[in-house]
Amino acid sequence: MTTTIIGFPRIGEFRDLKFTTEKYFRNEIDEKKLTEEGKLLRKKHWELLKNEGLDTIPSNDFSFYDTFLDTAVLFNIIPKKVQNSSLSTLDRYFALARGHQSEEIDIKALPMKKWFNTNYHYLVPTFEKEQEIKLVGTKIIDDYVEAKELGIETRPTIIGPFTLIQQANFEDGLTKKEILPFLIAAYEDLFKALNTQGVQWLQLDEASLVTDLTSEEIALFNEIYTQLLSKKSNLKVLIQTYFGDVRDIYSDLIKHNFDGIGLDFIEGEKNKELVSTGFPGNITLFAGVVNGKNIWRNHYQKTIELINSLKVKNLVLTTSCSLLHVPFTTENETFEPKIKKHLAFAKEKVHELNELNQILANENPEALNLNNQLFETERFTQNSFIKEQVDSLTKDDFIRQPAFSEREKIQQEVFSLPILPTTTIGSFPQTKEVKQIRSKFNKQEITEKEYVDYLEKRTIDWIRWQEEVGFDVLVHGEFERNDMVEYFGQHLDGYIFSKNGWVQSYGTRGVKPPIIWGDISRNSAITTKWSSFAQENTEKVIKGMLTGPVTILNWSFTREDISLKESTLQLALAIQEEVLDLEKHHIKVIQIDEAALREKLPLRKSDWYSNYLNWAIPAFRLVHSKVQPSTQIHTHMCYSEFTDIITAIDNMDADVISFEASRSNLEILDELKRQNFQTQVGPGVYDIHSPRIPNVLEVEETIRKILAKVPSQKVWINPDCGLKTRGEFETKASLEVLIEATKRIRKELLDDTK
Ligand code: GLN
Ligand code: ZN
Repeated sequence: MTTTIIGFPRIGEFRDLKFTTEKYFRNEIDEKKLTEEGKLLRKKHWELLKNEGLDTIPSNDFSFYDTFLDTAVLFNIIPKKVQNSSLSTLDRYFALARGHQSEEIDIKALPMKKWFNTNYHYLVPTFEKEQEIKLVGTKIIDDYVEAKELGIETRPTIIGPFTLIQQANFEDGLTKKEILPFLIAAYEDLFKALNTQGVQWLQLDEASLVTDLTSEEIALFNEIYTQLLSKKSNLKVLIQTYFGDVRDIYSDLIKHNFDGIGLDFIEGEKNKELVSTGFPGNITLFAGVVNGKNIWRNHYQKTIELINSLKVKNLVLTTSCSLLHVPFTTENETFEPKIKKHLAFAKEKVHELNELNQILANENPEALNLNNQLFETERFTQNSFIKEQVDSLTKDDFIRQPAFSEREKIQQEVFSLPILPTTTIGSFPQTKEVKQIRSKFNKQEITEKEYVDYLEKRTIDWIRWQEEVGFDVLVHGEFERNDMVEYFGQHLDGYIFSKNGWVQSYGTRGVKPPIIWGDISRNSAITTKWSSFAQENTEKVIKGMLTGPVTILNWSFTREDISLKESTLQLALAIQEEVLDLEKHHIKVIQIDEAALREKLPLRKSDWYSNYLNWAIPAFRLVHSKVQPSTQIHTHMCYSEFTDIITAIDNMDADVISFEASRSNLEILDELKRQNFQTQVGPGVYDIHSPRIPNVLEVEETIRKILAKVPSQKVWINPDCGLKTRGEFETKASLEVLIEATKRIRKELLDDTK
């Protein structure tokens, strides 16, 4: 048996690639320097994998931004205007990733989308009528040659044609059928080029195969691969899937002339069953048995039992998905040994593959013994009090009384807000200064008092500003928070934090998910200080600001011994305590953000409710079920893609929900109307993801569109999302526009009723 991985974290041990690339963005280094640094990183990573004893090493999993974009650029699937620009190849690439404005040309960044069920975001190219799809790039070949020169034979990887078509956008009027012959021809040319270089294996990533597939999609898949595989010549082709099972396509998959099929046995439990129905003897199974998404050590005994049960002749041990989704190494962490020994980041997972392989060859019984010992004792910290609390929850704990319509009336009286009440989503700009002061405080260069004084001053300044401009429901601005999950984790028992556990989220951006290491409880008040400080300083209503349990869970590394449901309920109880505490501190409006609610929504529709929504939505309800009828609960989501789960969202039973809408043409509104959505809504009236300041007419227009679909008594006016990443100038200017537009529309509404 041999070992390999699907891909390795390209950002580097200390996020080297991020820092170098950002230097390039700031014009501090030139293209040559950036290219050299990229080359050094690739070398370092290939050699590391080789030294860890990995048998086959992937290449072209490196990317300066995103491998999906790399693939689009390789095949010329980019806007004509960009093709014709005078920018260098690399700058054209970055222009697509991040946008580019100059006298010559104004290029908008490609849209970004969540990569299946991960927190990685890929860039979404569009197939356009004017494009000539053909092989124009050489990156995949250059990287192969580069490794070869170091004496390392690699397996180039690339997004496969089916997934490319499935996950890209199409210009209106253009069909998949129309582009198919050109796309297949382009991949054939790639096959030819790889053959010429003497490449032995090619890996085509086809994650779209783990989703629900229609019969047309299956036919499309068959058409692509029947043609393509007839042209592979000496090249061996591995079709690699991950993030789930291939139940809809398995019988087709094994009929084709693939040399290798990669299946995920971690998230795709059902794959085991599929393989047991028969697996061709002439195909190699790349068995994904080491989890590419979690940070825990592999349980060798169990893995070995799994492998033996597969009864496949030719087998390669691999990860369940690319190691892109885990941090680089535990070596730079300072956890106590009793914790650290349970952790495996990317580098350690490679080591595990090697050990598993040795154990299977009866060569390393010691490794198996040591590993068994790891799993003999309880690893996560337990708290029987919390367990009992969760166990004793009853139906009533998940239901807020009285019902929404009743509360709506009560709240109308209590708050007597004007029609179309205005608010923001929570954070105000975290300027360089704010970040510097926090970092000084963390390094103990300033005292706690100095830090708090500074935060208080900023908070008050922004409260005054909101009052002057005329907001109805105010926020304190979240200046004290570094992050909407880590900040909460720091006040919860059951969490631990890595120092270098960064995972790429998109491009040069990373996240450092906190780690759940036991039963969760609130160890101290989290937000009451800042919310009540704000409330004491204004006559207007302050909206308290919390992160919801599902989002905290989805942006953490979770434990293995209890279900996600149970961890989420524990989190919900902790946040419930905070909610009730805020109420005690006279906070009358509380927003509980569920920015990442959709993150763990199963890839297959049939699993949406049974495996996820049936507990995630009640967990949210548990958080606010005990508040007074007059306390107004808001929630917020950073996207509008919930047309398909609208009833679930309504079932969260919040009083108000704000969400992104400005970029999605407000399509969601039709659906809200159609499904008789009850919760009051604040569809974002301008896009905060861009520094552009909207004009009043534009915002008025958006509000009118909203009012055409939603009764005015149900509508709130707010931006799309939190403003922490924006500059102060554009934030103030945009919010003034928002208020002015609202005033004008209010006047219209009033005149109408006269
Ligand atoms: N309240 C948070 C903020 O304004 C919400 C952030 C988010 O939706 N991602 O920053
Ligand atoms: Zn948001």
